[in-house]
Parts: sequence; structure tokens; C-alpha cells
Amino acid sequence: MVLKFQVDALNVEKSLVMQQASNERGLILSQEKKMALCEICGSFLVANDATERTQSHMTGKQHVGFGLVRDYVIEYKVIAIF
Ligand SMILES: [Zn+2]
Repeated sequence: MVLKFQVDALNVEKSLVMQQASNERGLILSQEKKMALCEICGSFLVANDATERTQSHMTGKQHVGFGLVRDYVIEYKVIAIF
């Protein structure tokens, strides 16, 4: 009898955990929809973000650095190795 209560309690706990997991997955999906991938450095950017924030990304170290690497690769045709 005690075992049956334990099984019931665990089943309730399981359904709560499953529900929570699907809620979190929905949240991540809805967040992903609003994200855009930077074609230069591969960063996730917020789609339709404020112009100043996009501007600060474009002048940021990571983005500028990747841009330099891409220019180098194109210029020296290192891309053929890949
Ligand atoms: Zn970038």
C-alpha cells in the first residue's frame, strides 16, 4: 500500500517535471525565433534590435576580428584548404 502511494507521488512529480521541461523548451524556441545569426562572426544577435546596439556589435572586437580573418582568407585564398 505504501508502495502504491510512492508510485502515485512519483507519477505526479514526473508529470510536473515533464510539464516544466516542455514549458522551458517553448520559451527557448520563442527566444530563438527572435534571434538572428551574424553572417560575419556567427554571433547570435537579437533580430530587429536597436540600431545603436547593432552598431556597437559591428564595431566590437569579435565582429571586427572575424571580419579581418575573412578578408585575409579571401585575399590569400586560404579558403581552398578548407
Ligand atoms: Zn558579428
